[in-house]
Amino acid sequence: MDKILDGKKVAELKSQRLKDFVKNLIDQKKQPHFCVINIGDNAASKVYIRAKTRMAEKIGILQENIQLPKTVSEDEVVALIKKLNADPEINGVMVQLPAPDHINVKRLMDTIDPEKDVDCLTPTNIGRLWEGDHFVEPATAAGIISLLEEYDIDLTGKKAVIIGRSNIVGKPLAALLLEKNASVSILHSKTDNLSDYTRQADLLVAAVGQPELVKADMVKPGAIVIDVGINRIDNHLVGDVAFDEVKEVANLITPVPGGVGPLTVESLMEQVVKLAKRQDERR
Ligand code: NDP
Repeated sequence: MDKILDGKKVAELKSQRLKDFVKNLIDQKKQPHFCVINIGDNAASKVYIRAKTRMAEKIGILQENIQLPKTVSEDEVVALIKKLNADPEINGVMVQLPAPDHINVKRLMDTIDPEKDVDCLTPTNIGRLWEGDHFVEPATAAGIISLLEEYDIDLTGKKAVIIGRSNIVGKPLAALLLEKNASVSILHSKTDNLSDYTRQADLLVAAVGQPELVKADMVKPGAIVIDVGINRIDNHLVGDVAFDEVKEVANLITPVPGGVGPLTVESLMEQVVKLAKRQDERR
């Protein structure tokens, strides 16, 4: 049996559905429009922004990239976000992370209007998510859930273990997996002996940023393994999971590239469309 959870294929399928939906909006002169603010010259950020731009163009969403110098002040970024919040032509606003050290990211997130919060990083929308209100969803976590749904994977009563507790992946994914009736554990850099937990996992998610941290002997035979990690080594990408050896133990596994990455980008576009549609209904 094919063990690969093909994120690229699922993202392709979903983006085609979304494109058809957006075409209707464009016909009604309601093309979704969002802004990505990038501060400084982080090389990985540029790659991610290009991937978003390509997906937005393919689907028919207007993506405006605003590049700010790495010396920009926090007050200037806050002023820009407020301007975008007030612009009725713009349905969504996001800040590409990481930001330079002198910028307080929390203050930027607190400034984004929750109605335009594409990344689900404002306190209001994080709270909504934990209450089960999918006003907007964090793209990577939602992408992983959509992959599991497309493959008809039922998590009821299953043990889910997430390595990584970031605000953008680990924590929101825990909320969504709880909703799927999994019993969820979150591990992090201070967890003593990861294997004690990972070997119990029916679903193991690695969102760490450490190349091939997860080895075969850390995985329960028959588990489902989702690799979120994107690590650049000698000009090629590797995940947080040692794919070749873990694939021999796991029942299903996502590759890197071609797993969670494309799903994240597609899911982000779904959020833009959702926000645009809601704003239009409220006008
Ligand atoms: P962060 O750096 O924000 O978080 C990493 C998490 O991993 C932290 O909670 C950290 O623990 C934990 N961690 C680090 N080292 C270890 C270790 N040795 N053992 C256990 N836990 C550890 O990363 P992100 O969540 O933003 O991203 C994680 C990875 O996913 C990165 O490779 C990133 O590039 C990738 N990514 C991929 C996306 C995609 O679409 N495929 C989207 C977003 C991210 P602590 O909290 O204690 O520091």
